[in-house]
Parts: sequence; C-alpha cells; structure tokens
Amino acid sequence: KKRNPNESEFHQAVKEILDSLAPVFDKHPHYMEQGVLERIVEPERQIIFRVPWVDDQGKVQVNRGFRIEFNSAIGPYKGGLRFHPSVNASIIKFLGFEQIFKNSLTGQPIGGGKGGSDFDPKGKSDAEIMRFCQSFMTELAKHIGPDTDVPAGDIGVGGREIGYMFGQYKRLRNAFHAGVLTGKPVGFGGSLARTEATGYGAVYFVQEMLKDNGLDFKDKTVVVSGSGNVSIYAMEKAMQLGAKVVACSDSNGYVYDKNGINLDTVKRLKEVERKRISEYVNEHPEADYFEGCENIWLIPCDIALPCATQNEIDETSAKILVTNGVKAIGEGANMPSTLEAIEVFLSNGVLFGPAKAANAGGVAVSALEMAQNSARISWTFEEVDAKLHEIMVNIYRNSKNASEEYGHAGNLVVGSNIAGFLKVADAMISQGII
Ligand code: NDP
Repeated sequence: KKRNPNESEFHQAVKEILDSLAPVFDKHPHYMEQGVLERIVEPERQIIFRVPWVDDQGKVQVNRGFRIEFNSAIGPYKGGLRFHPSVNASIIKFLGFEQIFKNSLTGQPIGGGKGGSDFDPKGKSDAEIMRFCQSFMTELAKHIGPDTDVPAGDIGVGGREIGYMFGQYKRLRNAFHAGVLTGKPVGFGGSLARTEATGYGAVYFVQEMLKDNGLDFKDKTVVVSGSGNVSIYAMEKAMQLGAKVVACSDSNGYVYDKNGINLDTVKRLKEVERKRISEYVNEHPEADYFEGCENIWLIPCDIALPCATQNEIDETSAKILVTNGVKAIGEGANMPSTLEAIEVFLSNGVLFGPAKAANAGGVAVSALEMAQNSARISWTFEEVDAKLHEIMVNIYRNSKNASEEYGHAGNLVVGSNIAGFLKVADAMISQGII
C-alpha cells in the first residue's frame, strides 16, 4: 500500500490472491525463495500517455491513455482496453493483475495486460469515437504487436472501436497484422463467437458448477446486471438453457420484467440504437424500470450473474441475495463482488464462480482468434463454441481440483487463484530472475 498509494482496487485484487496462496507457499517454499510474489505484483511495464483529439465543435480534448503490461511469463501480454470516465491506474492495474491468472487458467499461451482511457464514449458521435481511437492508437502502436502485446475490448470498447484502432495500426505499420488486436469484426480477422464468448462462457461455467451439485438452469429465475456485451450473451445462453431472466440494468437503473426479459428488444436498444435500458418499458409496459442500478440485487432469484462492473455487489446486497434464497453466483464482470460479499456467499453455502474463472471465456476465444489469424484460417461458430465449452469445463475442473488439493475443497476462489498462479510461477522460475 505504501508503494502504490490510492490504488484501492489494485490492493483488493492483490489481497484476494495473497490470501488464497498461503497454502501454496507453505507446501512449496521455493516460490518465496525465488521472489515470485514480489515480482508478480510489480508490472513488467506501465505506459501512461496523452490522447489529444478534436471534438465536433472543433475544441481540443485531452484524455489519458494506459497500457499496463503486467506479466509475459507464458505468452504475449493479453487483455482488454476499457474506455470509461472512471479509468485510472488503480483500475487498470487490478484488471491487468487479475488477467495474469485468468489467462493462465484458460490453458492458452497468453500473458497478462490491460489498458484503456478515461474517455467517455457516451453521447459521442461516431466521428468523435473514430478520432479518439485513431489518436489513442497512434501512441499505443509503439508498444503492441502480435507477439508482444495483443489488446482486445472491454467496457466501452466493442467491434466498432477495435475496427477504428485496427485501421490506424495498419496505416502506421503499413502491414496487415491481423493478430495485433482481438475482438475484430468478423470480416477482417475476427473470430466467430468472440462477441458471445464471455457471456456464454460464464453460463457454461455456472452450468458445470450447478451440475456438480445436482442442479441446472432449467426454470430457474436469473438476474443479470448490465446490458452490455457480457450481459447480453449471458442472458442469451441462460435463456437457451431454459432459465427465466427477469432483470438487467445499465449504470442508471434496472428493468424488471416478470414475464422474462425480451432479449431482442435489449439487443436492439443497446447494440444498434445505443440507448438507455429505461427505454425498454416503452415497448414492454408490463415491465417496470427503477432508477439506481445497485437495487437490482433486491430482486429474488436462484442465480445471479453480475456482468456490469467492479464492486457492484457489496456485503449488504450479498446478504439480501442470500436471504432471498440465491443458489449460485457467476461473475461475468471483473471483481463485481467485494471481498466482504464473497465471504457472505461462501459462508452461506452459495455456489460461487469467481470472475477469473467464470469470465475467462472471452479471453480464451481471443486466444483462439490469434491462433486462427496466425494460421490464416477461420473456424465455424460451432467449432469455436465447442472449444469454448470445453475450456470452461476444464477451468471449472482445474479450479475445483486445486481447491481440494490445497485443503479448501469447493472454494473456487482459492482453487482458481492457485491453479492460475502455479503455471505462471513455474514459468517465471524457469526463465530466471527477470
Ligand atoms: P460493455 O461496455 O459492453 O457493458 C458494460 C455494462 O455495464 C453496461 O450496461 C454499462 O452501463 C454497465 N456499467 C459500466 N460501468 C458501470 C458502472 N460503473 N456502474 C454500473 N453499471 C456500469 O462492457 P462489457 O460487457 O464488455 O464488460 C462488462 C464487465 O465484464 C466488465 O467488468 C469487464 O471488465 C468484464 N469482462 C468483459 C469481457 C469482454 O469480453 N467484453 C471479458 C471479461 C470480462 P452503461 O451503458 O450505463 O455504462
């Protein structure tokens, strides 16, 4: 904390990992002796840069850009770019740190990194988004490459933004390096099923966790926060598996539709028209809209899928979910539950799928996109979806096995942290003190 003051999100992410790793250090003291802990919490490189651009009124705007290249022990840095006004060094560091272990868990050869900007895409014209993306990439291009660092999307960054950034990178390099960014539109190197991957993957993970406990999604009531990329496809897969999704949200409020959310309406409002979720009730008068997104957790449900942002479930919300009989939580977002909330879930026997494991499907399919780009081939939707499913089942099993091996049977927070850590730590030791 002394070394990284005012970085509360980063401290929270590090604390969760360190608490989990105690049994590993007891069993294998050589990780301590080799300074793995001290090295793994220090990013290999942090880049912070100015992003100047001109808005539609001709006024100069300046944002701050970040790329934190955290760990390259098992592959090139890999992790998304977030465009949101709340972005700062602490948030990018927590995301980059988590990414190391998540990427390791996927079984794919990818290191950990994250980036973004405090730019707010809301309310910006398409031309403004393009000018911002071009300026952002003009600096970022100096630091990334298909074998060095491969960014993707995250909050506020989807196919449109990746497309503009890819165009600028190509222009600067005079080379079509398809593998420099993932989450590209399918027409120029994007992978089928990448858009769906994080949401589908989170549901596959929860499905496995439920199955192991004699449960499934069929006829279950599900609440999903957010209405962005992860949320929409988590809802879609949960519905395909027979669940009834009754609520979703954005940062202003949430919609409760007791008949089940109409996903076509949400997709059109959010993906095409880029409108607020409050508009949903104009088309579905039987549904209710409530201001304040955090109250979505007051709705009784069997399964909760937080898919919006960090720390969206605090201790109070967790207790309400438990009182209302929640059986399982699947974290689609990164670090959506506070440490206190996780404790409430674990101590009340709620099945808990932590973000690192449950939302790893997105980056796993990004690695599959890189593989397709390298081989200059493209797999069908069904092929990618089948690989994603297999990866999520393996992540569940490896996390569960690690939890058992290290004396915390069934605690997937501990299990996923340990399973993710071991591979990276061994690679770091093999590569010497660097
Ligand atoms: P999107 O930008 O597509 O959607 C984000 C959603 O969350 C929107 O509904 C947004 O509402 C809401 N939201 C964002 N910030 C806040 C906030 N501070 N408070 C309340 N609601 C908020 O992002 P994604 O769906 O891609 O990402 C969602 C989460 O999933 C993030 O934690 C991200 O890191 C994580 N994730 C994403 C992956 C991916 O492949 N995209 C992979 C792994 C994890 P509004 O429109 O009002 O801002």
